[in-house]
Amino acid sequence: MLARLLLNQHIGVAAEPLVKVGTKVEKGQLIAVPNGLGANLHASISGYIKEVNAKEIVIEGPDLQPEEYVHLNTAQDPLKIIQDAGIVGAGGAGFPTHVKLKADLSTGCVIANASECEPTLKHNIAWLKERPEIVVQGLKHVMAITGAAKGFIAIKPKHKQALIAVAKAIRGEPKLEIRFLPDLYPAGDERVIVRELLGVELAPGELPLKAGAVVCNVETLKNIARAIEEGRPVISKDLTLGGRLKEARTGRVFFDVPLGLPIKELITCCGGIEEPHGEIVLGGAFTGKRGEEDAPVTKTLGGVSVTMPFLQEKRKMGLLACECGASKSRLEEIAASMGATVAVAANCKRMEDIGGGRLRCNKPGVCPGQAESVLALMKGGAEALLIGTCQH
Ligand code: SF4
Repeated sequence: MLARLLLNQHIGVAAEPLVKVGTKVEKGQLIAVPNGLGANLHASISGYIKEVNAKEIVIEGPDLQPEEYVHLNTAQDPLKIIQDAGIVGAGGAGFPTHVKLKADLSTGCVIANASECEPTLKHNIAWLKERPEIVVQGLKHVMAITGAAKGFIAIKPKHKQALIAVAKAIRGEPKLEIRFLPDLYPAGDERVIVRELLGVELAPGELPLKAGAVVCNVETLKNIARAIEEGRPVISKDLTLGGRLKEARTGRVFFDVPLGLPIKELITCCGGIEEPHGEIVLGGAFTGKRGEEDAPVTKTLGGVSVTMPFLQEKRKMGLLACECGASKSRLEEIAASMGATVAVAANCKRMEDIGGGRLRCNKPGVCPGQAESVLALMKGGAEALLIGTCQH
């Protein structure tokens, strides 16, 4: 078994290796530490260090791996345990959690984000159905760390079984409540959650803290509970595979896949790729990136989708990008795979530059009609359109 552990699986600087080629490591052992904003990295399998380079640490170990792992020191401050565990936002953002949780929420709240709104992804809801109490424990730990008065579980009403499971798990907990999210994309965007649950409209670039809230993904809360209660560092990831896979067209959930495992192994577990196919998308369908079969599982990888072959298009293409859906560069990549020439491109009119060329939507999920933009694209020479916007 081979695990390729990327040194930068999060926002911030890459971690610095503590190990050399040939070193024997145990599952759970600390192998790299950040020098600045970042997160610790632990061996996801037991074995020997095969390679260390600027990008990754490669471990080779036996296929049969022990259940046990090197435990964290749990006799210390919970925030320090979270830091030691190398926890980052598992929903895709990858922000180091111990930094996010340095907040005083005595008049505020913690929100468990169970929206899982990218198409195909199912692992957060599946976990909530099976083990809601672990997520609830994680939520309570975050509330204790931040001093939050309330804790909410933000979920869509359509997930009935998960809802029932969560409702049972929070019975007798006066500070915890379920709150509903609309069934739209991008309901999981932190600003959408704050707007829907707290009625506060955050400006582009503003964080939930401005509204007295911290939002944590379901799997991040699972990782927090396991770190504090079991001394478990982040050594695995939950994810969903779907698309043109012989035995997983509608999506198959995998829990606790060792970090660094090539996704090819999971594709094989799903019966392999159904040919012909277009591309492999790493992440959700809306925000994922094109990847290869040897891409490793990371702390933020939530999904793998294999797409249908690209339609071929010879007409001149106009592109319309969205902050929460496909960006201009992603649409250009798709257009190139379609054999199309791009004549003109535009952003959804709600996208604002918040400085340094960073574009943010000013009302995610409240999507405007795009007729005006479409007419402008056609005037600019577009004969066909490739649209990355979430709605319309
Ligand atoms: S308003 Fe525009 S940029 Fe914002 S989410 Fe909707 S389509 Fe995307």
